[in-house]
Amino acid sequence: MSIIGNLHLKPYEVLSQLDIETSLIISADSDDATLATSTDFGKLVQEIPAAVLYPSSTDDIVKLVNFSNNGVSVPFGIAARGHGHSVRGQAMAPNGVVVVMNFLKNNNNINGIRVSWDPILGFGYADVGGEQLWVDVLHATLEYGLAPVSWTDYLYLSVGGTLSNAGISGQTFRYGPQISNVLEMDVITGKGEFMTCSKHTDSELFFAVLGGLGQFGIITRARIVLEKAPTTVKWVRVLYADFSKFTSDQEHLISIDGMDYVEGSLMMNQSPPNNWRSSFFSHSNQSKILSLISKYGIIYCLEMVKYYDDHSANTVDEELHKLMKGLNFLSGHIFKKETTFVDFLNRVKKGEIKLQSKGLWDVPHPWLNLFVPKSSIMGFNDGVFVDIILRQNKTTGPILVYPTSRTKWDDRMSVVIPEEETFYCVGLLHSCGFQDCESLDGQNEEILNYCRKSDLEIKQYLPHYRTKEAWKNHFGKKWEVFEQRKSQFDPKMILSPGQKIFN
Ligand code: FAD
Repeated sequence: MSIIGNLHLKPYEVLSQLDIETSLIISADSDDATLATSTDFGKLVQEIPAAVLYPSSTDDIVKLVNFSNNGVSVPFGIAARGHGHSVRGQAMAPNGVVVVMNFLKNNNNINGIRVSWDPILGFGYADVGGEQLWVDVLHATLEYGLAPVSWTDYLYLSVGGTLSNAGISGQTFRYGPQISNVLEMDVITGKGEFMTCSKHTDSELFFAVLGGLGQFGIITRARIVLEKAPTTVKWVRVLYADFSKFTSDQEHLISIDGMDYVEGSLMMNQSPPNNWRSSFFSHSNQSKILSLISKYGIIYCLEMVKYYDDHSANTVDEELHKLMKGLNFLSGHIFKKETTFVDFLNRVKKGEIKLQSKGLWDVPHPWLNLFVPKSSIMGFNDGVFVDIILRQNKTTGPILVYPTSRTKWDDRMSVVIPEEETFYCVGLLHSCGFQDCESLDGQNEEILNYCRKSDLEIKQYLPHYRTKEAWKNHFGKKWEVFEQRKSQFDPKMILSPGQKIFN
């Protein structure tokens, strides 16, 4: 018999005490429901919930949280599951209840996606359910000629899921992460209270939840900033053999006004020019790049985008030319593309479909995502990219590296970033067959050890730790506030137990 928390009752016996009329609650006796929510994109962790809640309205979630708080002697854990695209079990609830947020989409038209224009402030915003996927937010807002300004590389992630982390991509240097572009939220706290919060109203909850790893409340609605959407993009990649030239050009581009997107990646034998993140290069260009890789070992690829529409179509080339003036890339190694705004933002989907067809998408993903201070990035290149990754020839998957600026991150938010003004987002997006996961995890550990020993002052993004000490260390001077907010908004430590911070 499975149990919820310490209750020696069948889950449905407990949950039947809840006055949830229309929602379907499936107990652990239903293998399909529990199996689907006991795994995630990472495929590295499996934790079985006692029950799964398919909410028909946000009210059902309020009742569930209240029940854990007040209806039982020992509270049980509750995890909102957005799209389950975490890699280390963050949206799981061992012995607790997983709330399948996506189900609100089918049943709850209260939030959905509503687009508005504020004539006084002169900008638009969208009120979106926390369960909505960013790809749906994009399509709904484009109906009004508007779109959010800050994105993730991949759009099949939920609004609640990315706002619990940060939501970063090549637009972050300009607009800040997605958590910097939220005006207001509806949140169900760990005490079961339904609260509307913003920078001005219940701001402590607002800032706690942004980047708060699901610890303080379940986001049921977020008001997202919108701007006029472009229709088309000029998409350019240039190559470098010299890391220092590559990073100083990236830093230059994020310091001037004009580019709409700046990212970068590594190309090496184990991380070839085209991959699931985007197949940008033609066949003949790939051969050209592969010969560069065999000459230099690692090639650095700077990726930039300029948006435009009918009004700016005549001037965009000249403007791009000006913005790129003085860049120090390998002569002749410039590659250009033009595509629609939607195809650019949704570029990863094509790669996903290809990998799906080969059975290579639903495999384990021992990812490591880091924020590296600017002053440490040369040391990181020498010690990690060259000494560990190139030498061991182990990594399989895209490796991202691009700078962003601290000024666009409000320090009151829960998310943790390096202290320096400029820092790099580094993503080691490994995928593996089951047999080599251990060795990739070993490589991740070696990278973290190297950073520790060399005092590189990195911070993990989408963090994963096993001990409270490590979490304290991650939060550093923010730990006290994080802990205090936990006792204020979720004193019984019910929410997002899969993060393993307080449980
Ligand atoms: P889930 O995995 O379902 O949940 C994540 C955490 O948030 C859990 O703790 C969960 O309990 C909590 N949570 C979920 N919904 C809510 C809610 N409504 N209220 C409160 N808490 C909630 N990240 C980036 O920043 N940039 C990228 O470019 C990027 N690309 C990615 C590409 C791929 C292919 C994948 C798999 C991930 C990528 N990520 C990226 C990481 C991604 O943003 C996070 O893993 C995010 O949490 C996934 O969203 P989700 O909806 O699947 O969240």
